[in-house]
Amino acid sequence: MPPRSNYALALTGVVRRYTEGVGALEILRGVDLTISPGQSVALVAPSGSGKSTLLHIAGLLEHSDEGEVFIDGRPTARLADAERTRIRRMHIGFVYQFHHLLGEFSALENVAMPQMIRGLSHKEANARAKDLLSYLGLGARLTHRPSELSGGEQQRVAIARALANAPRLLLADEPTGNLDPKTSDHVFGALTELVQATGVAALIATHNLDLAARMDRRVTLREGKLVELV
Ligand code: ADP
Repeated sequence: MPPRSNYALALTGVVRRYTEGVGALEILRGVDLTISPGQSVALVAPSGSGKSTLLHIAGLLEHSDEGEVFIDGRPTARLADAERTRIRRMHIGFVYQFHHLLGEFSALENVAMPQMIRGLSHKEANARAKDLLSYLGLGARLTHRPSELSGGEQQRVAIARALANAPRLLLADEPTGNLDPKTSDHVFGALTELVQATGVAALIATHNLDLAARMDRRVTLREGKLVELV
């Protein structure tokens, strides 16, 4: 196995349990997973099996009870919250089932904003936002607000926003779950194209087996462990 620093994401022995009444519910029971830069991995597992929990832990939104999460080779479990937040903002992008775009702002502003929070100038942030949106076929929709865009267009803006800060890792929770099959196919195509073009590592939870088949690897959760599907 190559050193962990070669991976955009490495999870080792991740355990997560929730206390329930007097007992504890162990959702993740020692999850191991590594993803290289430019690699896309589909997480296909039934509802309730722990997909969102796993994505939250990989995205440093939640702590595991045991185990380690390496982002770009760096262990994060024992870091202070402020440092975990910094790593999340700098290196991790998220796409959700519902886009969570800011309604009062244009597509361009929604994508430029995270970059300005990170310290880029207005001009630089706008230029990159424009590039990303144009790449996703939204060059003629830059000034539209979310309510003036279709569901598929909104989700493409959300993808552009997630990639705006050139993250090392992209995490997506049912990113096309809310879209009709044709739109879903289109959005997914745009997503995988960008993964290849930018070299980001992607972990994408999906119920859609056709979409999963188009990714580099497929994994599932079985009794709290991660299993590679071949
Ligand atoms: P999935 O995304 O695969 O549907 P989740 O990760 O959302 O699964 O949840 C896995 C299991 O953990 C579920 O049984 C859920 O009820 C439980 N769970 C999730 N979050 C909490 C929590 N904060 N407290 C207690 N149980 C939780």
